[in-house]
Amino acid sequence: MTEQPGDHLRRTGPAWKLLQDKILVHTRASTRNGFNLARSASEHDGIILCGADALPAICSFHRQAPGQRLQLADPDSYGDYATPDTPFRLASHSLSGQQSLFEEDQAEELRNSQQGQLYNGATASLTPTRYIRAGDRQTVAAAAQAAWGLDSQRTILTLPLDYQWLREPGDLDYLIATLADLPHIKAIALGAARNPLATRGTVIALRKLITSLERVALIRTDLAGLDAYAHGALFVSIGMQTPMRHIRPPGSTGPPMPRKSNVTTMVLHPQLMDYFRADTLRDLYGRLPGPRCDCTVCTGRSLLRFDHNLSDQEEANRHNNATWLPWADHLQRTEPGPDRRSTWQHLCYDAHNAHQELRELLSGPGALETPRWLRVWAGDPD
Ligand SMILES: [Zn+2]
Repeated sequence: MTEQPGDHLRRTGPAWKLLQDKILVHTRASTRNGFNLARSASEHDGIILCGADALPAICSFHRQAPGQRLQLADPDSYGDYATPDTPFRLASHSLSGQQSLFEEDQAEELRNSQQGQLYNGATASLTPTRYIRAGDRQTVAAAAQAAWGLDSQRTILTLPLDYQWLREPGDLDYLIATLADLPHIKAIALGAARNPLATRGTVIALRKLITSLERVALIRTDLAGLDAYAHGALFVSIGMQTPMRHIRPPGSTGPPMPRKSNVTTMVLHPQLMDYFRADTLRDLYGRLPGPRCDCTVCTGRSLLRFDHNLSDQEEANRHNNATWLPWADHLQRTEPGPDRRSTWQHLCYDAHNAHQELRELLSGPGALETPRWLRVWAGDPD
């Protein structure tokens, strides 16, 4: 019998059963240099696609292999601040430049946008929540309230939270209290101009948020996804490209580009468990022999080979994925709970030591600092 749109939803259980214990790749749907999304999706547990082409790509994967892949569409609705009246970005806002006067119209449009994702073959639908300012409790309440009108088995409430939510214990407690009863999956995406976990206290606060809620996911993140996973997140998604590793406050600009280039290549160092700019990595090693990488992409080549151009960036992105995948596998093969947490802590402890060992070899002692988040993952106090 021919597969009809939406049939996959009638066969499957609630989204939280399908997504439980999964580590997804978060990537742009269209890449300028031929990255094979379908292959990436089959090598990993599944994908979250971002960008204008996300739904068409999901639809085409779905036609090829109905219901075979876990696939979600990132609404990428974080370019504006959410307000209590307009927590979501809906098509009518961009068409008319203003929100509908009628709350019922917004609710209907939100329901339609969720249905559209499912109809195209998404495993579940993510709400198009706008960027939520630190401490904006009314907007969190409005978004949670709206979620009650959406199918809890199929809808994921997206929560694009400014990292400063993690800095105020009262705000954190409010989040937990407001979201605790909501049966839907809650997908948190952290926002900051730089790394959201660079500030004291944020790593532990994020763990508190993850462990205090049921059915909570951390999406569009970096290795912080593995920490959340080890601490009981329902699922996580790790970004393939740098902008897919956290969200930014509306209007903020990213770090400056390298000289003479409009491309920044970021390289995940397998022993140091941190991402480095290609030129920073070369400067760091200086005259020392470059680190070799045994991942499936590098097959023993040096990590100093990468430069700031599109083709190197694409290869580095594949190297990055191939580097964290064995860590993800290791965690997934370990029993959830204390064993998984301790496996993750050991991985990070080794990386913490690797920083120390490399520092001793470097001429400039201040050249390599162990990132705060890694020290905390490895067991240091925050
Ligand atoms: Zn590699």
